[in-house]
Amino acid sequence: MMEELDKPAAEFDESDLIPISAVQHYSYCPRQAALIHLEQVWEENLYTLRGRFVHEEVDQPGEEVDGNLRIERSLPLWSRRWGLVGKADVVEFHGLTPYPVDYKHGPRRPRTHDDLQVCAQAVCLEEMTGQLVPRGAIYHATSRRRREVECDEALRRRLREVVAALREALRRDILPPAPNDKRCRQCSLKSSCLPTVVADARRMARLGSDLYRVEEDG
Ligand code: SF4
Repeated sequence: MMEELDKPAAEFDESDLIPISAVQHYSYCPRQAALIHLEQVWEENLYTLRGRFVHEEVDQPGEEVDGNLRIERSLPLWSRRWGLVGKADVVEFHGLTPYPVDYKHGPRRPRTHDDLQVCAQAVCLEEMTGQLVPRGAIYHATSRRRREVECDEALRRRLREVVAALREALRRDILPPAPNDKRCRQCSLKSSCLPTVVADARRMARLGSDLYRVEEDG
């Protein structure tokens, strides 16, 4: 039962709230989350521009009502119990039950970090409305198809783990190592992160000793 889930008991202050977007970034790559949310690094590439274009279509706050369905766009979200803050692209209210819909560019495909973002929106909506939010969806703009996300116990537990790890990483203020794997191919932060360089320990050591030699010669 969702009511019996092992939810965080603490209430976080406003200054302790972390962005819902950081959950997705951390789940994708902890170094990416640290670069964006600690170092304030942000770079555009084809994928971020496509994402921005998709979001521009739903970023205007507004409300539509169609019978028993109410649609809120660009709705602010927060949860003091989870310590999260952010914004939902779209929330459909089917009667009283909220149903968050997150817009993504690209074709329909399952990705855990996208699911965690929907689940983070769901737990915020639960706290804000007092209603259970058992599911939400990702709208994949390229294929114009929805993929429903079940906010079940397993996903909520994973969300709790990721939020705790993210909070600790932000508190420690340390840049994690670069995994330098297939995730880097589509990452917009490649030129700031330099994953192939920092993942190559021998090369880093050589660069370090070269730097030291220049300083000595000078
Ligand atoms: S380039 Fe790779 S290691 Fe660096 S932030 Fe992006 S995904 Fe992470």
